[in-house]
Amino acid sequence: MHQFIGQNFTKPCCEFTEESSQTPNQYWHSNELAKIRNDLLTGKWPIGCKTCKTLEENNSKSLRQRSCEEYTIPSQPQVKYIDVRFSNKCNFACRSCEPIFSSRISKENSLHNLEEFYGYKLDKNYVNNSKQIANDVEKYLPTLEKIMFTGGEPTYIEEFYTILEKITDKDIQVCITTNASLISKRFLKAVSKIKKLHITISLDAVGQPAEYIRYGTVWSTVEENIQKILKLNCSVMFNSVITAYSLPHLDKLVDFIIENEQNEYGADMYICNNPSHLHPCVLPKKSRIRLTEVINYCILKLTNSIRVEDYRNCIDVLKDLKVQLSKNFYDEKKFKLFTDKLDKIRNQKYDNRNLWTNW
Ligand code: SF4
Repeated sequence: MHQFIGQNFTKPCCEFTEESSQTPNQYWHSNELAKIRNDLLTGKWPIGCKTCKTLEENNSKSLRQRSCEEYTIPSQPQVKYIDVRFSNKCNFACRSCEPIFSSRISKENSLHNLEEFYGYKLDKNYVNNSKQIANDVEKYLPTLEKIMFTGGEPTYIEEFYTILEKITDKDIQVCITTNASLISKRFLKAVSKIKKLHITISLDAVGQPAEYIRYGTVWSTVEENIQKILKLNCSVMFNSVITAYSLPHLDKLVDFIIENEQNEYGADMYICNNPSHLHPCVLPKKSRIRLTEVINYCILKLTNSIRVEDYRNCIDVLKDLKVQLSKNFYDEKKFKLFTDKLDKIRNQKYDNRNLWTNW
């Protein structure tokens, strides 16, 4: 099983729709999970498996099917793959992120009452069960084949290093998603000993727009750290969320990705559907021709690369976005409100106000 360990919940996999508040290890030994396992083995669909059920009923490949192909079913259940978030501790406050993933956003939300945008407020800005989670993760190490660290920002969390330093001599595939702002000597030393390492760098723009969109970014530091990551003996992937903020600057990001190409390297992109007020389709009609040119440029650059196969999803996402921009016009009111409010709090200035005549 691919156990999903959230900041304050756990579930059998990332697609499962029901969350348990038990600790990871309690959940692993629980009747709740035993029933899910048993239902799946006897051909019944547990309630939380509705995403896979719907996909399979529509003849699309589900995560369940892909996992069954990748892993054998052991006679004794074992944790072989975990996807872990120790806490929401993060040094960034990216525009498309939210309090449960970033303590910095949570703090801002509490101080400035931004619930109308995030839809909730956390009691404590730090959702921190990291010690308990690390204890439980340690118990899984003997059977573990793959571990995925995301955040908050893993490199900002002490327990990430506690676990990382315990797996350097093991044959475990390690995947880390990072904002690339804290690539320290300690980090480099620990990861240099890992045999199967994959690093995903979250990056929505380069230069000044990166500092605006992914608040907390000092571009010169992030750029330098990306070079340190690229020098490691590992596979690297750039992961970008396309929002109304980042789309006008996407050509520069794609140039950066192409310029830094090397072996075992790729990129992935997602259109920001949640929160919907940051979707690129809030951008005004008069900007669409230029935005379509930006997208065409990106598609061309990615398609002409020798690494085109590693950009397939980006290219498909960009083609889909082009279609969406040609016919969808979302209300921009909340986007403007959110932008004005955050700009005031953060003392920033949105550089594309001139796309609108009335802003
Ligand atoms: S770095 Fe990641 S966790 Fe932190 S605010 Fe940005 S998107 Fe959220």
